[in-house]
Amino acid sequence: MERFVADRMLGKLARWLRVLGYDTLYLGSAGDEVIRQELDAGRILLTRNRRAHAWLKRGRVVVIEADNPREQLQEVVRQLRLPLAAEALLNRCLGCNRPLVIVGKEEVRGDVPDYVWQTHAEFRRCQGCRRVFWSGSHAENMRHRLKADLSDLWE
Ligand SMILES: [Zn+2]
Repeated sequence: MERFVADRMLGKLARWLRVLGYDTLYLGSAGDEVIRQELDAGRILLTRNRRAHAWLKRGRVVVIEADNPREQLQEVVRQLRLPLAAEALLNRCLGCNRPLVIVGKEEVRGDVPDYVWQTHAEFRRCQGCRRVFWSGSHAENMRHRLKADLSDLWE
């Protein structure tokens, strides 16, 4: 599975790739040294900087043209022909990029709103920030939005 490193203009795109289950680092203000390390580690650089083609001798780079995060996501998926696996959706923390772990219902009591706890059976926790995720209306909305945006690519 492809892994990514997104530069500072592409925070929203990074979150969408995490929604799809892709390991995506977001650099914020990190400098060239970090980009170099991550390219060496096999990550694909996502950037809006046209001059980033200089990085091509170092690794794989996608220069993003669109301003809108939804179109940016389409660009990445098309250019790299990324497979979209339904089972990978929402497997990764949107905040800190760590894989989520399925946890028992009792373990998250008190960590989620009561009505959510009572009406849901499956919960996942981020081992980094400890945030709890569950399949609910928010997840469903994201699924629908992705399916609409990427419908011609979805299998
Ligand atoms: Zn997290």
